Amino acid sequence: MPFNIALHISSKEKLYKFISLAIGVLAYVFIISLYLLILNFTPATEEGLKIKNAVNGFTFLVFVYIGLAIIIAMISVRIIKAKMFGNYVLVNEQQFPHIYEIVKDSSKRLGLKTVPEVFIYNSQGIMNAFAMRLTGSKKYICLTSAIIDADNDKQIRFVIGHELGHHVAGHLNTWFRILAFPNLFIPFLPFALSRAREITCDRIGHYVADDIHDSASALQMLACGSAKLNHLMNHEAFHQQEKMVSPLWRFYHELFSTHPRLTLRVAELKKWAQRNPN
Ligand SMILES: [Zn+2]
Repeated sequence: MPFNIALHISSKEKLYKFISLAIGVLAYVFIISLYLLILNFTPATEEGLKIKNAVNGFTFLVFVYIGLAIIIAMISVRIIKAKMFGNYVLVNEQQFPHIYEIVKDSSKRLGLKTVPEVFIYNSQGIMNAFAMRLTGSKKYICLTSAIIDADNDKQIRFVIGHELGHHVAGHLNTWFRILAFPNLFIPFLPFALSRAREITCDRIGHYVADDIHDSASALQMLACGSAKLNHLMNHEAFHQQEKMVSPLWRFYHELFSTHPRLTLRVAELKKWAQRNPN
């Protein structure tokens, strides 16, 4: 079946994205309206002039800070790029072609027009993978050495599919980030949106991996981390652990985590795979 991103976006992501955009747009409209109201309807008295001057001064400062933030961001991007190209290993046809082939094939399956640049770096044992965008439309994926060492190639396919999912689903969209910026001041909402996005990307990773054992065990490996135990892992037993997670821990975890707990991710993915065979 051809890939359809709309079918993979989790209902929670749709809800939190809508709330985030609605709050963001309302916040910007409120601020701009307030600014225009003060400028146009403040009486031309001495007190009124003081208020207008204060508002204009504050607005000027806001634009100065925005300008500074843009300059700092541009410098940071160049520093990060220099660090990546100077210290990480770029995956391509000449370098680890079997991993590049997975990225190329997965990108094609997900309808990406360009293949993201993929880097592997020495994480000193930390298992991780992430998607990023620095400037423009250029897409990147970083994989740590620990995840490459621990996972087999089928599990890596799931991980790469998950990270590509962040690109395909528009999670790194600059305009969304700007529009949804006011949400950073709403407690718990950014965390909830982030967790919902992870569920979406697990589904996309599974679409690419095309095998629930590979997908679920790739998630379990994030908890296990041992290459030696990889082929012995039982993701069904890991799934059953979900029932043993205390409600208090669940509540705490739900509030402050950018990622759902791994037992929940496995449980959600298995439910999804049962309902939606590829
Ligand atoms: Zn993710």
